[in-house]
Amino acid sequence: MAKINPEFTKELKSYGAFDVNACYNCGNCTAVCSLSDEENSFPRKMIRLSVLGLEEDIQMSLDPWLCYYCGECSTTCPRQAEPGELMMSLRRWLISKYDWTGLSGLLYKSFTASLTAFIILATGVLWFAAYQGFNPEKLLHYGHYFEMIAIAFVFAFILLPDIIRMWWFTFSKEHSKIPLSAYTKAIGDLFVHMFTQKRTLGCDDSQVRWFEHLILVFGYLLLLFTTVFLDWFGTNNTFVIALGYIESAIIFVVTFIFVLSRVKKEKEVSKHSHPSDWFFVIWLFLMGFTAFFVRLFIDINILNTNIWLYVLHLIVLVQWALLIVPFGKWTHFLYRSFAMYFIRVKSLNTK
Ligand code: SF4
Ligand code: SF4
Repeated sequence: MAKINPEFTKELKSYGAFDVNACYNCGNCTAVCSLSDEENSFPRKMIRLSVLGLEEDIQMSLDPWLCYYCGECSTTCPRQAEPGELMMSLRRWLISKYDWTGLSGLLYKSFTASLTAFIILATGVLWFAAYQGFNPEKLLHYGHYFEMIAIAFVFAFILLPDIIRMWWFTFSKEHSKIPLSAYTKAIGDLFVHMFTQKRTLGCDDSQVRWFEHLILVFGYLLLLFTTVFLDWFGTNNTFVIALGYIESAIIFVVTFIFVLSRVKKEKEVSKHSHPSDWFFVIWLFLMGFTAFFVRLFIDINILNTNIWLYVLHLIVLVQWALLIVPFGKWTHFLYRSFAMYFIRVKSLNTK
């Protein structure tokens, strides 16, 4: 028998949902949602499951990952149940379920916990910088070292186990017997969705948003590659230096547009911002912005007398790598791609 959680909609509110119980099942949201078809009633199915407290069914479902939050459903809802925001809160709730450490749930639900974690990491970096006597050479060396270790650690000990848990919830609980060949055949979909996020194009009027996301994903991944593997802050190669400038500029210009749109709240998609949304856009902006100026200070030879800038960059980097990437909104990028992959695997299995 399915387990029912009568407090589920209450719990979802702590993840950013509005009054889902206000829904009187009129179907307006389903009529406008471009993801709806005869087999799947978007987003009404998820609304029903949430209202009934059928959390196991939601945990097994990949549907919340298909929605790219165009906001059409919320605009047409006569009861201000904000179905688009419900889908968003379900994605946060799912992340907290996938995360074996339990930290995602804690950080999503408590602003105080998030703030405390940010302050602890900032204090740690400041202490470390002071311990190294604010020596620019040593700090640049350890900063580069940290990037490599953080990527390996976060991927191996947090993201990989969490993806395995996502897979387990999606497949094993429904006792599907999927042949290995389905996984290998569908692997291309994983990378296509990861790098293009083309599912956004399924949402109405989102071509501009898709393009902004696309260049942000490429800018981010390339900057990661340039700083970690091409040692952007340490290199003398003109091409690599110029490349890093372009990538970091792309990141802070695009994220500045995102921040502005959230401040103005003109579009449905940016009307409601959970603290995790703010952390994501602001920290990504700060990453690009401080990285750009660190390299500029190196090039005009004033970083040694302005090491505070690199310490600031290091604080942002550490908070980004140890909080936002493993436990915050960054993981959407990963889970959306895996959701599309798993859906493809399932479809191959039923053929
Ligand atoms: S439009 Fe609003 S009231 Fe109607 S089904 Fe959707 S969420 Fe419920
Ligand atoms: S936000 Fe858009 S894609 Fe998501 S459920 Fe609502 S209408 Fe559908």
